[in-house]
Amino acid sequence: MSMKFPIERFRKAATPLYYYDMELLQQTLDKIKGSVSRYGFNVHYAMKANANPAILRRISEAGFGADTVSGGEIAAAINAGFKAEDIVFAGVGKTDGEILLGLREGIGCFNVESAQELEIIEQLALEERKVARVALRINPNIDAHTHHYITTGLEENKFGLDISVVPQMIQKCMQSKALSFVGLHFHIGSQITTLEPYRMLCERINAIQNDLEQQGMTSIKSINVGGGLGVDYDDPDKHPIADFDPYFALFHNHLKLRDGQQLHFELGRAVVAQCGSLITRVIYVKEGIGKRFAIVDAGMTDLIRPALYQAHHKIENLTGAGRELRQYDVVGPICESSDVFGHDEMLPEVHRGDLIALRSAGAYGEVMASRYNLRSLPGCIAE
Ligand SMILES: *Cc1c(COP(=O)(O)O)cnc(C)c1O
Repeated sequence: MSMKFPIERFRKAATPLYYYDMELLQQTLDKIKGSVSRYGFNVHYAMKANANPAILRRISEAGFGADTVSGGEIAAAINAGFKAEDIVFAGVGKTDGEILLGLREGIGCFNVESAQELEIIEQLALEERKVARVALRINPNIDAHTHHYITTGLEENKFGLDISVVPQMIQKCMQSKALSFVGLHFHIGSQITTLEPYRMLCERINAIQNDLEQQGMTSIKSINVGGGLGVDYDDPDKHPIADFDPYFALFHNHLKLRDGQQLHFELGRAVVAQCGSLITRVIYVKEGIGKRFAIVDAGMTDLIRPALYQAHHKIENLTGAGRELRQYDVVGPICESSDVFGHDEMLPEVHRGDLIALRSAGAYGEVMASRYNLRSLPGCIAE
């Protein structure tokens, strides 16, 4: 156990709660900044991973942009100090109200995912007498070899545009006084743990750029390659900071950027996952027939990834130091059989009242919490 947890604070606090190690977050941000500054790349933080105000504030102070997927996220980004021009707005189902909010705030870019969406953005921008900056999200048809619920770059998928419709949409932007074409957007999936899919993405983008140039479309100011870089859920203490250097170097080495062209990244998970843990108390230890259950006060309402994606978060007994290891199923109190955090976990003997940490919970954790069963939302300590 190398993460230093403020256990005495947890003892006095109501659980479950999310604990954010702000020092680790800062080190991660510094690492990313150091790595991209070598190449002049830009990073937008994908806010859907974690929109806790303390986290957002720290990331905006570090000078990152924000990648948003709803009007609520645009508003939260502005509240947290992100500059409007550094906000991009993605998503397949932007409502008129959300588009209007983006136009009025003057956000940097709408990432467009259908021909009809482009029509509506144009119409609303005309009415508002604004110019909407737009990028087109292309489906690169790359299999990121991740869980099928979090792969987004394949052809049969609600996300993105088929390349065949892109030239006429760029043309439309060029001819409209309410639209300004900024560039191309891609995103191939999440929790991607090898660089091979990204190398394939670079090749795809190179081919697409060549094709578009042959059709006379040369005004592509920016390429946005999305996010998806994975983290080590099995051993967060060995890899508290993701492997950013080889990731950014790969794009530098394989992507053929044109003169003056900018490269943007939209990282979510890799920025915030490792700095967060869900802290929960053991309510009961139940001796089953063939199993022993540690029943904790956090459930799938606080951290849904195990129930939703069969994900596993490393489980630690923070208050069991020195006790003998025993085997437990660690389960929550929710009335759903998928409310399980781990099967056959070896933990220092668990007693009622022990504090348990579910590690690497900073991404897609607190932000996905719900009030199912009319439970309270989890608390938070960020320090
Ligand atoms: C979710 C998402 C991201 C961030 O993905 P991570 O796996 O958290 O890095 C980036 N871009 C788009 C378009 C997304 O939908």
